[in-house]
Formats: sequence, C-alpha cells, structure tokens
Amino acid sequence: MSNQKSLSQPAAQRQLSTTAIHGGENRQKSGDSITDPIFCASTYTFSDTNSVIQYIEEKLPREEYGRYGNPSEKVLEKKLAALEGGEEALLFSSGMAAIAGLLVSKLNQGDEIIFFDECYHRSREFCVKHLSRFGVVTRQVKTGDYEAMEAAITPQTKLLVSESPTNPHLSVVDLDRFVEIGRRHRVETLIDATLATPYNLLPIAAGVDYVLHSATKYMGGHNDLLAGAIIGSSEKLESVRNLRGIMGSVNSPHNVYLLLRGLKTFELRMQRHNANGQAVSEFLNSHPRVERVLYPGLEDHPHHDLARRTMRGFGGLVTFLIKAADWRATADIVDAVKLPRIAPSLGGAESLIEQPLVMSYYECTPQERRQYGIPDNMIRMACGLENASDLIDDLAHALDETGEL
Ligand SMILES: *Cc1c(COP(=O)(O)O)cnc(C)c1O
Repeated sequence: MSNQKSLSQPAAQRQLSTTAIHGGENRQKSGDSITDPIFCASTYTFSDTNSVIQYIEEKLPREEYGRYGNPSEKVLEKKLAALEGGEEALLFSSGMAAIAGLLVSKLNQGDEIIFFDECYHRSREFCVKHLSRFGVVTRQVKTGDYEAMEAAITPQTKLLVSESPTNPHLSVVDLDRFVEIGRRHRVETLIDATLATPYNLLPIAAGVDYVLHSATKYMGGHNDLLAGAIIGSSEKLESVRNLRGIMGSVNSPHNVYLLLRGLKTFELRMQRHNANGQAVSEFLNSHPRVERVLYPGLEDHPHHDLARRTMRGFGGLVTFLIKAADWRATADIVDAVKLPRIAPSLGGAESLIEQPLVMSYYECTPQERRQYGIPDNMIRMACGLENASDLIDDLAHALDETGEL
C-alpha cells in the first residue's frame, strides 16, 4: 500500500525513477508479461448486445474503438500524470497535436490568448495563422514582461501561455508570478515544459492549470517517435479528451510502447542531459570565439537565480552566439562538428545541432527574425547522452578549425 501511495505522489517527492518505471502499470499484466503489450487493435469486441448497452449506460472503463484510446495508452497516461504530479494526462500524436487539441477545445470565437513571445515557432504559427481564422485573437508580449502580460488581459482573455525554459532562448519564467496573474484575473494558464521535463520543473505544483510536453523530446528520449501530452485536472481535460476522440490525433500502439520503454530510463537520462548541458555551456562560455551562451545553469544568465530556486537542473539544450560571425561563418561551425548531427529536435540520445536562422526561420524576413530574437550568429545545440568530454573536444576542434588564426 505504501508503495502504491508513493507512485501517485507528485514528482516533488523526486522519486522519479521508481515512478517512471512502475507508475501507472498494473503489477500483473496481460499474458503475465513484465512489459505492457502492444495492442494492435483498431476496435474492441463486445460479447453480446447487452454488454454494449451496459458499457454505454454504466460508462464502463473498457475500450471501444481505437480513436478513443488503447489499453497501453491508458497505462502511459497514468505514468505521465504521476511523473508530473497531475491528476490526469492526455496523450496526443505529437506535441503540436496536443497544443492544437487543447486550444481548439478550450477557445471560442472572440476569445483571446496571451503568449510570451519567445516560443516554439509552430505554436505561434498555429495561433496567429490558424486560430485567427476562427476568430480567436492572439496577443504576444515580451517574454518575462509580467506587467505587459497583465496589461494585455481583457474580459475575453481565456488563457495565458508560455514555455519555460523557452525555445531557443532558454529564458526561465517565474511561474509564481505567471500563476498569480492568471488567478487574479480568473484566466487559465498553460506552460509548455518540454525543455524542462518533470525532472527539472513541476508547473502543476506551482499552480499552473495545464502542462504541455512534446514527448517527442526528453520523454521519448531516443529520437525515434513523435508524441505529445497535456497534464491537468480530469475536469478540465474532459472536453479536450472528447475532442481528441473526434479529431483522431492519437498515437499508434507501437509508438505508445516506445514511449513507455523510453520512460523507464527517464531519470538517468535527464541526469546526463543536465550534466552535459552544464559542462558544454561552461566550456562554450569560456571560449574566446563565443560571444554569449544562453543557458540558465550559468551564473551570468539573467534568470540564473530564479532557475536555481525553481529548477532541479537546466536540461541539455544550449544556445550560443559566435563572436563577429555572419550567418555563413556560423554555418561553418555547425558543419565542422562531427558528433552532433545537424537536425531539428532535442532530448534524444544523439546530440543535435542547428542554426535557428537556417533550420526554423529561413523563410522569415530579417525584420521578423529580429522581432523573434533570432540573430544570424546563433547556434542551438541539444546535448545528448554522449560523454561530455567528447562533445567538448568536438566543439573545441570545430571552433578552432573554422576560426581566423
Ligand atoms: C518540439 C516542440 C514542440 C512541438 O512538438 P512535436 O512533438 O514536434 O509536435 C512544442 N513545443 C516545444 C517547446 C518543442 O520543443
């Protein structure tokens, strides 16, 4: 019993490995298997008409059709809720499907949402280009400007949205202030905590209504799946779950298995991501060719004190600017590294590197890039699980080889 209890306690207890391995799982599983099996079923059978009627009338907890859920997905959702310290988790086919699913189920024509402006480019695009077609207004305010966020609230405002840390600037949001503004104005709050994960940050414990993850990243951890999750109260998520069942943004049974498997090593992996992020950022911070490193674990990061107070570690993502380099000289460094692969994404075993200007903002005008804070000399590196000394040697070599003598 005491064991059961600890599994449902919030991640604040920091027993994350035990929760990541056992949380949400039944002790005895189908076929006496130690792992949760992959149920490749698009539909689920009833023994007779009466059992269909009984299922509908009594709302029995069983499966009906694949778009509404899958047995191992339920296990995964319980595990994610336990890791986050939330009441319920809802799994989606990707992080973007999760954001879109939440916003579409919560917002009506005429409603407004307010964003801190440093954010995943596609989240902003979904709101500005698509929600707008349905009469939802998106207001963007400067990240960390809490007064501006509060001033932007109108009677139509339904949701305050931010990432923490933000992608790719790694700004850290003061969740206490963010939540307090929302509560005072009776506006719900959403934090995209993809870059933090429940290992490093617990937004639910801080009072945030919805926590969102691109589980494609650290949760999956192996660069081999796409998934998204929203964690919050069962009451608030009911309408989101119902709409997911209609929109069909559900994961394949095989993906669910991969995610369950990836989570078994969640705590170990996060420890290494944090250690590698810290070591790489410290190395870069002392390198003469580097103008600036954006990493909350560095003492000179503007939010270092807040990050230290509210986070357990600072993750594997490191963003840095090259001194006096144009976009091509910056690209030369990206091209010169040998270990990190050139790709978008983060959170997997393999380190990845990219130049935001090229990878995500190539089609923007210079003015838009200035507005989004994406300079030509910016590199984003997602430290994987390799040995930190190998990553540092590789970066050192690339910086020296491409630098002027
Ligand atoms: C990757 C990412 C997303 C989108 O998630 P997908 O799983 O790729 O759809 C959303 N927010 C952040 C912060 C991300 O890094």
